[in-house]
Amino acid sequence: MDYSSEDEKLIDEAYQDLLSSCTKICKSEEDWNFIKRAYFLAKEAHQGVRRRSGEPYFLHPIAVAKIVIEEIGLGVKSVVASLLHDVVEDTDYTVEDIERIFGPKIASMVDGLTKMSGVFNADTSEQAEYFRKVLLTLSNDVRVILIKIADRLHNMRTLQYMPRDKQIKITGETIYLFAPLAYRLGLFPIKSELEDLCMKYRFPDEYAEISRKIRETEPERSEFINRFCAPIKETLDKNNIQYEISGRVKSIYSIWSKMQRKQIPFEEIYDLFAVRIVFKSLPFPSEKTQCWQIYSSITDIYAPKPDRLRDWISMPKANGYEALHSTVMGPDGVWVEVQIRTQRMEDIAERGFAAHWKYKHATLSQNDDAFDSWLKKIRDALNSPNENAVEFLDNFKLSLYTSEITVFTPKGEQRTLPFGATALDFAYDIHTNIGNRAIGAKINHKIEPITKQINSGDQIEIITANNAKPKTEWLDIVTTTKAKQAITSFLKRERQNNIERGIALFEQQLSKFDIQLSGRVLRKVLPAYGCNNKDELYSKIGAGIISLDNLDKILKSSSKSKILKFWRLWRDTASDDIGDDDAESVAPSKEVPDIDEFVIAGCCNPLPGDSVVGFKDTATGKIIVHKSNCNELNRLAAQFGKNIIKDQIKWSQHKAVSYLSTIELRGIDRMGLLLDISHIVSEDFSINIREVCIRSHDGIFEGSISVYVQDADSLNALMDKFRHVKGIDTAKRSMENKDD
Ligand code: MN
Repeated sequence: MDYSSEDEKLIDEAYQDLLSSCTKICKSEEDWNFIKRAYFLAKEAHQGVRRRSGEPYFLHPIAVAKIVIEEIGLGVKSVVASLLHDVVEDTDYTVEDIERIFGPKIASMVDGLTKMSGVFNADTSEQAEYFRKVLLTLSNDVRVILIKIADRLHNMRTLQYMPRDKQIKITGETIYLFAPLAYRLGLFPIKSELEDLCMKYRFPDEYAEISRKIRETEPERSEFINRFCAPIKETLDKNNIQYEISGRVKSIYSIWSKMQRKQIPFEEIYDLFAVRIVFKSLPFPSEKTQCWQIYSSITDIYAPKPDRLRDWISMPKANGYEALHSTVMGPDGVWVEVQIRTQRMEDIAERGFAAHWKYKHATLSQNDDAFDSWLKKIRDALNSPNENAVEFLDNFKLSLYTSEITVFTPKGEQRTLPFGATALDFAYDIHTNIGNRAIGAKINHKIEPITKQINSGDQIEIITANNAKPKTEWLDIVTTTKAKQAITSFLKRERQNNIERGIALFEQQLSKFDIQLSGRVLRKVLPAYGCNNKDELYSKIGAGIISLDNLDKILKSSSKSKILKFWRLWRDTASDDIGDDDAESVAPSKEVPDIDEFVIAGCCNPLPGDSVVGFKDTATGKIIVHKSNCNELNRLAAQFGKNIIKDQIKWSQHKAVSYLSTIELRGIDRMGLLLDISHIVSEDFSINIREVCIRSHDGIFEGSISVYVQDADSLNALMDKFRHVKGIDTAKRSMENKDD
């Protein structure tokens, strides 16, 4: 199928537009021919293929190439690789073909841009493996990941054509990995746009609401900004400085995050905008001095807030960001953040890594080291053999959003660690064996615990003991990837030993009662010891955390019944399915699901009415229901995107019939008993309490609880739970039911 004349027109327009951008980067006839060759090959290769929007597919690579020039600032090779980025994956061309035509450099870039295909280890997630591959390219050629980000940005900009499950998968990946990665690589505007687009698809109402409020408050805000800037402009003009000054509103996503974090309405966000001054620096004095001179003239006008001064020039952020930030008292008693930076710093803030390289030869920035050492850490982690892809990704994620501190060893050697690092992180940074045996630290010659957070400039000596070893709690103490990995792998080894010991002990104990280890036995024992799986049980037995003294009682007790859900979840299979061209997707199931199909996610505990997303648990086959904004869901979506349920999961109308019943309780009173009782009732949202009445006299406790339940099974299950509470002697159904 050929391109129609309408297609040809669209493609040609996009191409002409791309060529006009290329004038910035093409230096020779050779450069132009290189790009044209890529254009014609890709156009021919994608012929007849369309995007979901109905547009010719080829418009996508052209758009990516355009982003790569205009928004990231890369050069000719990157444009060629962008045009070819989907050719190997989607058409008959191979990497070898590309190499023959464009040479080995372009071929390896295109290879890096080609998604994973082929055989996967069944235990690991394809998605995580895919990310791992993406990140591997990062250590070879940073441009590949920058093109990958451009690709993602264009896909996000055209996300409205995707069905809902794909939207969730793609936004999940974006918020989990691509936005942080863009930030880490210094692409601040792209990071913000990716976040905003994610929010637009996941929380359309909130997104619309905040954008409306920003629009509505605009006239008032620009009046204020003008008033604020007027005297600043006057002094800068007087000093013959060439500059631009403007007020910039925060991104919708960051406003929304702040509203959530602080639990405040839009109207109470005081730092909705910042004023930015970008100036042309003179050859002399240093850029830093010139920034401080401007700072000085501004604080002659407005009083600064002393604790809000941020000098990102003396100590640039890990992603290369440099600027001077200060908050000053503006007119009407309003604090205003002012950002001061040179044009060079602005380029780096907008274009990140690419701009950073451009200036690398011009200035001797100390930041090259920080970036190079970050890349080295990623390379090391990728080469770490005892780590699976999912763990790698979790750890890698940690290294994305960090600002850094510099500390010293006893000998004065410098070490860079993320902000928030503890003495224990430092210990692991020196050596795994030092970390594993750390018991304390001398920070600036003073004895401190290993949990102590360290600060820039600290000098640290680690105290070790030969019999010390890592504990699970240590995982909460450390923040660095290296320390987490070392502790996890130590604990894994130890756990494996404990499991083996636990199995032996358990079987030995069972044999005393002449019982064989079986699934039935485990189903009884696991909940009784509060374990989620048998490995947890064995390792706790092996470590001596669980004693098997009461095993016989547990084996004799009857298993508890399950409380039925009051609200029902169901799958809306009629949702926006507009056909799917991916081979991996399966047609939505039409059968009526039973209520046991769903499990409420423990991480976010959605309640009836919450917007929810279903995620298939491959182990049990059940659908775990998460809140739409659950962080854990984002993580899962990024790693196991295929398991997102295509259908919308909805709560049914609150129609189930419920009956009022009263339970009478009696027992020995103790501290915390009431709390335990109410905990049991509130734990399960299928129970509604109508009335609680508790009396206590002479150490005896008597009470009645009136609840709405769906049926007798639920009531029995509830009473069964009460009977297991320490102190409660009897729990029975009252005969005299109160009228509603
Ligand atoms: Mn693409």
